[in-house]
Amino acid sequence: LGPTITIGEILVEIMATDRGTGFLEPITLIGPYPSGAPAIFIDQCARLGGSAGIIACVGEDDFGRVNVARLRADGADVSAISTSPEFPTGSAFVRYRKDGSRDFVFNIARSAAAQIDLTAAARALIARSGHLHVMGTAFAIPGAIEIIEHAIAAIKARGGSISFDPNVRKELLGQSETRARFARLVDIADLILPSGEELFVAAGVEGEREAVHALFARNASEVALKRGANGSTVFTREGRRIDCPAFAVEEIDPTGAGDCFGGAYVACRRLGMPIEQALTYANAAGARNVTAKGPMEGAGTRAELDAFIAMTPGRST
Ligand code: ADP
Repeated sequence: LGPTITIGEILVEIMATDRGTGFLEPITLIGPYPSGAPAIFIDQCARLGGSAGIIACVGEDDFGRVNVARLRADGADVSAISTSPEFPTGSAFVRYRKDGSRDFVFNIARSAAAQIDLTAAARALIARSGHLHVMGTAFAIPGAIEIIEHAIAAIKARGGSISFDPNVRKELLGQSETRARFARLVDIADLILPSGEELFVAAGVEGEREAVHALFARNASEVALKRGANGSTVFTREGRRIDCPAFAVEEIDPTGAGDCFGGAYVACRRLGMPIEQALTYANAAGARNVTAKGPMEGAGTRAELDAFIAMTPGRST
């Protein structure tokens, strides 16, 4: 029915080489690494051979070029990435603290990422797409919300499907507008991919079983629960529960694991794989990605994920 598409921020990430607190003294930084949750998602989707495209905006600068070149090289449709003549590409400076939490300096709201628009190329991509993946991070960008609404209507009208990764920054959930958008997505998404507390926020109830049931009572037919180093579980509306243990890895940089997991799961399901197989690839994609520095540096092709899976005795697809 056409490519999987997503809408939202493309950024570069520039990260501190050591763990510590903040950016108040000179430290060594490395990057630029291609980033932005929707970009990571669509890159992993494309690398797995899923037809995939993104609607986004970058600046007329090297940070934009590095992102577009990466996505193109990995097979994503970049025709709907526009270029702002005025604003620089969005960026995130990141430093991990010793306890694993992170300090950020973001430039998103006043960057090209926020200049996203429903261009003719974006309309054309939406018109031929068969699946929309909405990332909660896009709710921070007013222009993206409008495009998401247009895409929802168009894709639903074509009989396409919708997935939702709640991934909303906590501060934004305090706003009633964001909560309403969130609730709307929960009401129309076929597949929801929450991580940790996001399940309860999405469902509006506590308790894993209760929350999953509440989502099935809305619209979802599948819920893929991400559990970090504890793997993941898919629940289906028919009452199936498929658990997938994590692949044991040394965690170098956890940023992007959930986005790679989502990109792999959606790509594999849309390629026609059964849940078990798609979930194994999704866990492998998430785990492989945390072994590499940089938010999408560990995204894998099918051959790379097969090789990664084969390194764990007893695991296969
Ligand atoms: P999010 O980034 O959305 O919070 P998670 O951290 O749960 O998502 O990561 C998504 C998936 O990536 C997990 O379900 C798991 O399969 C894999 N993953 C993440 N962190 C690790 C880890 N430390 N070891 C192994 N697998 C991991």
